Amino acid sequence: MESFVINMGAYDVHVRRKRVKNINFRIGPNGEALMSVPLHVSRTEAERIARERATWFERALARAQARKCNAPARWSTGEKMSVWGRPVTLRVLDPSEAASPCELSGDELLVRDGPNASWRASEVENWLQQELMAYLGEILPDRELAIGRMPTHISIRRMKTRWGSCTPKTARIRINTALAECPHACANTVLVHELCHLIVHNHGPQFQALMDLHCPGWRVTQRWLDEHPPRTL
Ligand SMILES: [Zn+2]
Repeated sequence: MESFVINMGAYDVHVRRKRVKNINFRIGPNGEALMSVPLHVSRTEAERIARERATWFERALARAQARKCNAPARWSTGEKMSVWGRPVTLRVLDPSEAASPCELSGDELLVRDGPNASWRASEVENWLQQELMAYLGEILPDRELAIGRMPTHISIRRMKTRWGSCTPKTARIRINTALAECPHACANTVLVHELCHLIVHNHGPQFQALMDLHCPGWRVTQRWLDEHPPRTL
């Protein structure tokens, strides 16, 4: 997954190289500046284009920020989130009424209150990691068997621009916590993608054939992931 970040001082522009003809600028669902460029555009060229667009980005970001001001504060009751692609609303519970630090109950994600917002953020984050680990643990044996490769270690962490990554030499795989917020097909696709990298290190035709074999429909999911950059904390 080809992406990189351009630092513009007050904000970052998240750039993705895609099979597109035109350059595209937009503000993502979490108020992040996004740009997609055709595959042949170099990093230097992308930086030049982003700087030419600085005024547009600044205005669009200010508009998105103004909209956000009407939304509840982060990690507070009423905040809208997503769990496995399903919208849920956060509800902060008094420690005396909370059965566990964080749990899903219908359309609400209940989190036990703590000293501050970042404490609640990390409770939610831990819960998302556990959810994702449980799901990966469920599907991993089948995928390993089919693909014929086994990672030495899988770690789950919040990453800014990548959904997953893999070090073929050590067979270690890293998966983005944000996948627990997306439909299950996304975590599956990223897991299969990284497992296939244990056989083919690039994204060439051989890699794509492996993906077609082990994850039919991956192209649709891949497009969805490209259009929804990982939410950052
Ligand atoms: Zn890859």
